[in-house]
Amino acid sequence: MKHDVAWKPHGTSWSLLDALAAVRQEADHYRTSVEMARHISWSADASGAIRTVSARWAEVTGIDVNKALDNGWLDAIYPDDVERTLCAWRLALETASSIDVDYRLQTSSGYRWFRSCASPHFNHDGEVLAWFGTLEDIDDRKRAQSALLASEERFRLAAEAAGVGIWDYDALLGRRLWSDVFRAMLGLAADVPAEPATALALVVPEDRPILQKVVDSISYGDTHPRFELTVRIHRANDGVLRWMQTSGWRVKAANGRIERILVTVRDVTEQLTAEQRVRWAAEHDHLTKLINRAAFNQLLQDAIERADRSEAAGLTLALFDVDHLKEINDTFGHDAGDMLLRAVADRLVTALGDDVVVARLGGDEFAAIVEASPNGLAEDRIRFALHTLRQPVLADSITLECQATAGIASYPQDGQSARDLLKTADLALYAGKASARGELSRFRPEMRASMQRRTSMLSVARMIARDDRAVPFYQPKVRLSDGALSGFEALLRWRHETLGIQGPETIAAAFEDLTAATSLGERMLQRICADLTRWRDDGLTLTRVALNLSPAEFRREDLFDRIMGQLHSHSLPAKLLELEVTETVFLGRGAESVGNTLASFHNAGVTVALDDFGTGYASLKHLREYPVDVIKIDRSFVADLLTEPGDAAIVNAVLGLANQLGIAVVAEGVETAQQAAYLRTRNCSHAQGYLFGRPMPANEARELLAAGFCARAAD
Ligand code: C2E
Ligand code: CA
Ligand code: CA
Repeated sequence: MKHDVAWKPHGTSWSLLDALAAVRQEADHYRTSVEMARHISWSADASGAIRTVSARWAEVTGIDVNKALDNGWLDAIYPDDVERTLCAWRLALETASSIDVDYRLQTSSGYRWFRSCASPHFNHDGEVLAWFGTLEDIDDRKRAQSALLASEERFRLAAEAAGVGIWDYDALLGRRLWSDVFRAMLGLAADVPAEPATALALVVPEDRPILQKVVDSISYGDTHPRFELTVRIHRANDGVLRWMQTSGWRVKAANGRIERILVTVRDVTEQLTAEQRVRWAAEHDHLTKLINRAAFNQLLQDAIERADRSEAAGLTLALFDVDHLKEINDTFGHDAGDMLLRAVADRLVTALGDDVVVARLGGDEFAAIVEASPNGLAEDRIRFALHTLRQPVLADSITLECQATAGIASYPQDGQSARDLLKTADLALYAGKASARGELSRFRPEMRASMQRRTSMLSVARMIARDDRAVPFYQPKVRLSDGALSGFEALLRWRHETLGIQGPETIAAAFEDLTAATSLGERMLQRICADLTRWRDDGLTLTRVALNLSPAEFRREDLFDRIMGQLHSHSLPAKLLELEVTETVFLGRGAESVGNTLASFHNAGVTVALDDFGTGYASLKHLREYPVDVIKIDRSFVADLLTEPGDAAIVNAVLGLANQLGIAVVAEGVETAQQAAYLRTRNCSHAQGYLFGRPMPANEARELLAAGFCARAAD
């Protein structure tokens, strides 16, 4: 197509540049014209009647241009769009403002979408002179758009069907849409405006920061196109706590601005609680609901790392051991024991407060981590917890005594790792259980050494029992009035391969261990029975032999049967055996059964001697309640009898008491004739000590027996 261009000379002379500029201008004009030619241009008068339509009208619609004039163009519009288009056109005419309206126009290939834009032209008085407009074919764009809408609609339907809620934010239009499912999830009515604040207010306070972070990252233009987070909400209509898993997509325009944010929301409460339940069970103790050992170890590790990072005071680990749980289980049943453990758990949590982790490590053992408290303060808190534990627990119709012992160790001074700290706190607990039940014991380095000593004592004791190396040495007891041999105390000795005969102090810790003490005691009794049998078979008149029993041995229920069984199998009468027990067996929960066991022995003819009398506890009560035949005055009182008036007073009081109760007395550790003389004048019936004889092997004891031993000091 050739266009005539009016060449307009610039000034008087033409330059080449001018010529080139003119050519470029003509090219631009040409391009615009072609562009415009794809549009249909038209004009109308002030009343809206169409006056001119470009020839392209006819090409597009196949309708004669003249037929479009006045209101004829309306005939070419798709009937459904006529009304809407006319409305827009009338509004534009009335307000003399531009119009921009889409409608379908009849074309040779059927109806197609067109966009009609027009602006009014005014005269100097501001009156509309005419309207100039264009019609543009937008059918392709429109179809793409509706395809998008359709696919969005499909997505929306699918999401609704899957129970997924949608929050659609169109930043360009500033439009927010909440789907029905979304509203239902939040418990919001259909007419509540889709305001972010409404939704945010439902999120539990602890989770708001998580959400805020995402919101911030969006407003800072964070480039990640996707985000995902789970928050908890309180549903608006019923306040129920629900877990919402949200996934978001953001769409950005070329200029980087966010155009759209689409958030899908799923209520995952049921699914999550199932998951959580499994995790919870793996980390918690079912009975007390406290965290368990495995989870506690991890938390201790974390706390240590925190302590390393902070300048503040370190942390204190406390291990608690509930006293007498076994006895409560045995006496009142496991339900009572469980009730006690639950009470201990509750009280520890309440007493120690929110910032302290409390765990049940198993059995009767609990633990707590006190963080960022100076050592002294941590100790005070734990002491307070021990104090609150001491209230009795009322379980149905019974009252359970409640008490725990605590061992504590602090990081970093007592242990550089979680493992070390647990070990040192455990050592403190062990020491506390031995010497300060119901109290708090702080770890001290020497506890390590004593634990090692204990451990090696135990293994030596096991070896002694296994290899049958225990031998009883016999120490004579004499009647003070005439020095006659009244019996022996059997004391444990064992043969060391190179060091020779060893005393019981080398394995003292073994007497506290149920298994070791029991097997040592059994070996001792076997040997004693064997010696007595031999002496009897040699025709000697036998005398009573005392066997020492440790409290640990009483923890075995078959103690009575085993001892009586041994005597019986050697055909030895029960009256030949005496049992020496210290008052500690009467302390604690098992006391009742100890009493019964001792009563059985007493009734069977085995005498019972209360050893180390005076060093223990509330002795008088024990004398009345338990079948005690003999009191052995501890040698610490005898040692200074002649120099310490206090000791003499105690000895005299015991002697007076025993006389009144009709209980025999043996003074232990008599080393001098003066001591013996003093005791005799005070009516002490029997004595034992180096003055009369040291503990001796069986053959020497036999000779003593055969000689009809008479003490030097007995004159
Ligand atoms: P214990 O029952 O008080 O035994 C008396 C201890 O005093 C013995 O020490 C004895 O050798 C010592 N002794 C006796 N007379 C005198 C004296 O005049 N002066 C001094 N300084 N000491 C004297 P041993 O044999 O070393 O026994 C120590 C402890 O070991 C015993 O104290 C007892 O508690 C325990 N023990 C010994 N044998 C056995 C046993 O077979 N079973 C149990 N469970 N404990 C035992
Ligand atoms: Ca003894
Ligand atoms: Ca003693």
